[in-house]
Amino acid sequence: MRLSNTITTITGGGSDGWDLFVKARKMIAEGHHITELTIGEHDIKTDTRILEAMHAAALGGATGYAMVPGIEDLRQAVATRLTTRTGVITTPDNVLITAGGQAALFAAFRAALDAGDTALYINPYYATYPGTIRSVGGVPLAVTAEADNGFLPTFEALDVAAAGSGAKALLINSPNNPTGAVYDRETLEAIAAVAIKHDLIVISDEVYDTQVWEGEHISIRALEGMAERTLVVGSMSKSHAMTGSRVGWLVGPEAAMGHVLNLLTNTNYGVAGFTQRAALFALGLGEDFEAEIGAPFQRRRALAQKALEGQNAIRLSKPSGAMYLMLDIRATGLSGDDFADKLLMERAIAVMPGESFGSAAAGHVRIAMTIPDAPFEAAIKEIAAFGAALA
Ligand code: PMP
Repeated sequence: MRLSNTITTITGGGSDGWDLFVKARKMIAEGHHITELTIGEHDIKTDTRILEAMHAAALGGATGYAMVPGIEDLRQAVATRLTTRTGVITTPDNVLITAGGQAALFAAFRAALDAGDTALYINPYYATYPGTIRSVGGVPLAVTAEADNGFLPTFEALDVAAAGSGAKALLINSPNNPTGAVYDRETLEAIAAVAIKHDLIVISDEVYDTQVWEGEHISIRALEGMAERTLVVGSMSKSHAMTGSRVGWLVGPEAAMGHVLNLLTNTNYGVAGFTQRAALFALGLGEDFEAEIGAPFQRRRALAQKALEGQNAIRLSKPSGAMYLMLDIRATGLSGDDFADKLLMERAIAVMPGESFGSAAAGHVRIAMTIPDAPFEAAIKEIAAFGAALA
């Protein structure tokens, strides 16, 4: 079969960064006990009430084709949510429901790029970003956010990259996976200034917007002059522990959404009505429920901070949000890859090498805070002791 270059080059060649994860899973399958701190998925299942709402909706007939843009009530609920949370007046015409945030990311890049156009993204980055850009024939160009700058991108770095590449789009993600960085107003203003200067579409991945432990979540769409050039990616996956339901959204200017709707018609042809109804019910559970979903991560972040006190080998890189911690292991003299491998083989703990998320996270490992408190705390203490022995 003579396949397109676009599809055969999506991964960009080389490792996809999941080698350690696969190795750990293989060891588990062989009967080893491994503590897994690798995957960004809650250690709880979707709440029973949400599942009951899904079941009731399906039994009630929401099993046919749903409206392609999304069911009206859910679009309205998302619009109200964004209006309330960001202050930007948002209507259902600004909202399209997608199969998770990932499908919204794809749609956003499809909207922003023609074949051969460059899109900037920030390194370290969530694993799918460059592949999503390549999926639409775009050229991904990473802009480094230095560990020593709290993994925040700077005006200078973005300005140089935008000027040099003639990029059409810039993808940002705050709260950030993998770093836990929450972009402050100053950083977002710098990003907005670059976007306006170089006429970039900003794709703002805000799927962790309910998980902020320090500072506040600010949507770049709310900054002056940004609503007309920003596409916001949102999702029920992280905020409501609904990863498998595949409900997310893209929010942007009405005219842009009109074109994206044509893409949705010709790709997924809508999202299952019963999962959309479940999402609507879940949003109705309100902020207390969202806080409950996020609480374990906030708690474990504090446990980790405490467990890492009184030693210098493993440094916690100021995680302000999301379900991850970045540990700076440079004092051990190992790379993130080597540290993670050694930790797996010698202490049976699986963490993600920072290098899996880009060169800017080299010398770090990412910890997903997605196991119960007691084993989590024990694992962090073990990692601290392991680091101290190496340093
Ligand atoms: N963006 C980021 C930063 C993520 O971490 C994830 C999931 N891990 C997604 C988008 C996509 O999530 P979903 O498609 O489940 O909404």
